[in-house]
Amino acid sequence: MKPAAFTYHRARTIPGAVGLLDELGDDAKVIAGGQSLVAMMNFRLARPEHLIDIARIPGLDAITRDGDALRVGALVTHHAVETADLGPGFRVLSDAMAWVGHLPIRTRGTIGGSIAHADATAEWCLLAVLLDALVVVEGPRGRRSIPAEEFFQGVFTTALQADELIVEVLFPRPAPRAALTEYAERRGDFAIVAAAVDLDAARVVLGGVAPVPLRVPAAEAVLAEALSGYECLNDSRALVSYSRAAAAAAEAIEARDEPGLSAHYRRGLVRTLVARACTEASGPEGVG
Ligand SMILES: Cc1cc2nc3c(=O)[nH]c(=O)nc-3n(C[C@H](O)[C@H](O)[C@H](O)COP(=O)(O)OP(=O)(O)OC[C@H]3O[C@@H](n4cnc5c(N)ncnc54)[C@H](O)[C@@H]3O)c2cc1C
Repeated sequence: MKPAAFTYHRARTIPGAVGLLDELGDDAKVIAGGQSLVAMMNFRLARPEHLIDIARIPGLDAITRDGDALRVGALVTHHAVETADLGPGFRVLSDAMAWVGHLPIRTRGTIGGSIAHADATAEWCLLAVLLDALVVVEGPRGRRSIPAEEFFQGVFTTALQADELIVEVLFPRPAPRAALTEYAERRGDFAIVAAAVDLDAARVVLGGVAPVPLRVPAAEAVLAEALSGYECLNDSRALVSYSRAAAAAAEAIEARDEPGLSAHYRRGLVRTLVARACTEASGPEGVG
């Protein structure tokens, strides 16, 4: 299928893109890598009258260290992160990119596009919540930083206003013992369930169980209590804690029987994936 007719605009600066968004209002959509938007336009699920191409705006494709923090520009592709040496504190970001679609998608799709699209199983959305990221956006009223947990508001719904552009995602702290894992029916598909954990922050985030990436306080409490006195995070005591945290996560989610996917099966995926993510985060691979 082909998309409905639209007018193409190429923005050359951030203020230029914001000015166009302000002027054209709800009839306009930003396009970055096009890996989600073009499919939606082809299926006529999106019919923007104006497309604002931001792909050539200089400076939005940089990954920079800022003290302990990492700034990832909105136009940084999944593949650029996958192949970057981000250091031990942010290796979880590179490792997680291998789960995003296929290589051609990863070479075009961007972090800004993923965060704006806000699929609740998208790896970037889970990682942003896991690591307390700030989504930095610019609009006619200036720049603001939105904590990831507030940014994702519902099914494909975010705190981004129609006249605002995501300019970068700021990861404020390293996470040397963190991992993301998932299950999809075919390699490259969006996950049915995804689990991300950060052992140092005792953080557990799930995808595919709610309209937004979901933190699971019950599982986080188990991890926090169990790991507070441990020197070694991959001995038998720690492994028992991971299975207890995984069981708590499986118990905590709201799951319904759906065609082809029972609640029991979804809970089983949560249990398996949380335990696996904890083990990966704690092992030599996870310690980075
Ligand atoms: C077959 C297939 C499999 C895929 N599998 C996965 C997967 O497993 N995991 C995963 O996470 N993704 C997956 N994707 C989606 C892919 O990661 C996309 O790259 C991503 O969702 C959107 O990034 P994009 O740069 O292509 O954005 P676009 O498609 O250009 O835009 C997507 C949305 O974001 C908005 N937008 C883009 N950039 C900005 C910005 N800077 N500021 C404000 N709004 C912006 C657009 O207006 C649009 O609404 C898959 C895609 C395909 C086609």
